Amino acid sequence: MRKAAVIGAGIGGIATAVRLAVKGYEVTVLEANHTFGGKMHEFWLGKYRFDAGPSLFTLPHLVDELFTLAGRTPSDYFRYSRLDPITHYFWPDGSQVKAWADTGKFAEEAEQQLGVPKQAVQEALQKSARLYKGTADTFLQKSLHRLDTYLSPDVLKALGCLSDLGLTTTMHQANANEFSDPRFVQLLDRFATYNGSDPYQAPGTLNIIPHLEHNIGAFYPEGGIYSIAASLVKLAEELGVEFKYNERVERIITEKDKAVGVETDSGKYKADVVVSNMDVVPTYRRLLPDQPAPEKTLRQPRSSSALIFYWGIKKEFERLHVHNIFFSQDYKAEFEHIFKYKTVSPDPTVYINITSKADPQDAPEGGENWFVMVNVPHNQGQDWAQLTVDTRQAVLQKLSRMLKTDVEALIEEEQLLDPLLIESRTSSFGGALYGSSSNNRMAAFLRHPNFSSKLKGLYFCGGSVHPGGGIPLCLLSAKIVGELAPAPSPAKPHQRH
Ligand code: FAD
Repeated sequence: MRKAAVIGAGIGGIATAVRLAVKGYEVTVLEANHTFGGKMHEFWLGKYRFDAGPSLFTLPHLVDELFTLAGRTPSDYFRYSRLDPITHYFWPDGSQVKAWADTGKFAEEAEQQLGVPKQAVQEALQKSARLYKGTADTFLQKSLHRLDTYLSPDVLKALGCLSDLGLTTTMHQANANEFSDPRFVQLLDRFATYNGSDPYQAPGTLNIIPHLEHNIGAFYPEGGIYSIAASLVKLAEELGVEFKYNERVERIITEKDKAVGVETDSGKYKADVVVSNMDVVPTYRRLLPDQPAPEKTLRQPRSSSALIFYWGIKKEFERLHVHNIFFSQDYKAEFEHIFKYKTVSPDPTVYINITSKADPQDAPEGGENWFVMVNVPHNQGQDWAQLTVDTRQAVLQKLSRMLKTDVEALIEEEQLLDPLLIESRTSSFGGALYGSSSNNRMAAFLRHPNFSSKLKGLYFCGGSVHPGGGIPLCLLSAKIVGELAPAPSPAKPHQRH
């Protein structure tokens, strides 16, 4: 049986392992940490459970599809429900909007609360849907680095939307052209942060993102986001995938122009196919030091990172929901702090995710598990200890003011995540959340392909390569690798050395 070695058990690595096992490979996943999930892991602080990284889940069919592919019934492994409201937005002037799952209801709420014409809101969401439908098949579902992609009929569909694609305007300009209310523009601009980008630089193309959340929906998986990784690991193990934890890959073994296996701190594994779910920058720098690296690709600017305060809060806030946003006064200045000055704004937009609203067992009775996140630059040697102290203070002051409660007095458990910890725990270059940013209109073409053009048998999945970061795109990277890897023909069994 032909063998595949997957480096890393992040969501991209797990999904790739499932796809290769279904294709007939004998798959081994080598993971440096003691468990799977990478950024998608969970932990407890006393009686409070936290999803450590991702909190917003869209396109759940991409998870279901893996169970179906393996001949299983998805709901036997993984269940989720649609969130309503999706997000509760708060502005410094006291205005609030609940983004209801029903687009008509959301548009009405925007009209009532912000005076934005509801017709314009619905038209913007319809435009987002058209853009997505016209482009996703080409830009997200396929490799952009193979000629056959450009010979497919989907390209004609994408070309049909070219004028609508917004490549010549920034996301912010595109939104400001449609809406005069700065608060609603801020709400739409925020979607740039879904792949760690800056709406004042990123192309209007990113306006496809609201379609995912508003037209298709935002979902909450039973047991939290971590259950996505856990359920897929269960499936992978049933398919015979072997997970080896605490086993860091040190080198990809090559022979002439081919990847033939990996070497870890405890042994060598021969493989016909090697897939790196490790960030592409350290994959080249550490695992392939003797190979020429694609320098231009590796030098693409990184996405933003995050400071996260995990707080066990001994009070329930009825007006809060699963996803809550407390906007900054000056969004442009906030992004300049992140991408130009490479620091944290003194007035950051604050995101609070509270899974105990959906899963009450995630917090003790009368309490809530707050995941409090601020967008920050990726690590470039900043003084994170000082930035954390300052940002914690700014966040506490802002939330206490806007919620009219002394929040600090309610914290009974606390933990922190910063770009340095993200990097050391997952090897993500600079602790960036989503690989490279989309601040350049050619970004989609500048991400590393899902295969190596120099080394046969070497593939790449996960948030640092095509089509990008975030759970759905990582799952799509696995799909592309699953399709690119050759169907295994029977071969002599290999030995582990
Ligand atoms: P990663 O999660 O990066 O994992 C890589 C794995 O490879 C790790 O387990 C690591 O230990 C292992 N590894 C690395 N090097 C080696 C080696 N040499 N040998 C063996 N193992 C190795 N996405 C969303 O869709 N929605 C969100 O709301 C969202 N919010 C986020 C919030 C935060 C705080 C973070 C950190 C991320 C967020 N994301 C979100 C992004 C999302 O989590 C990631 O895009 C996705 O989980 C990345 O998966 P991955 O497959 O690239 O692997």
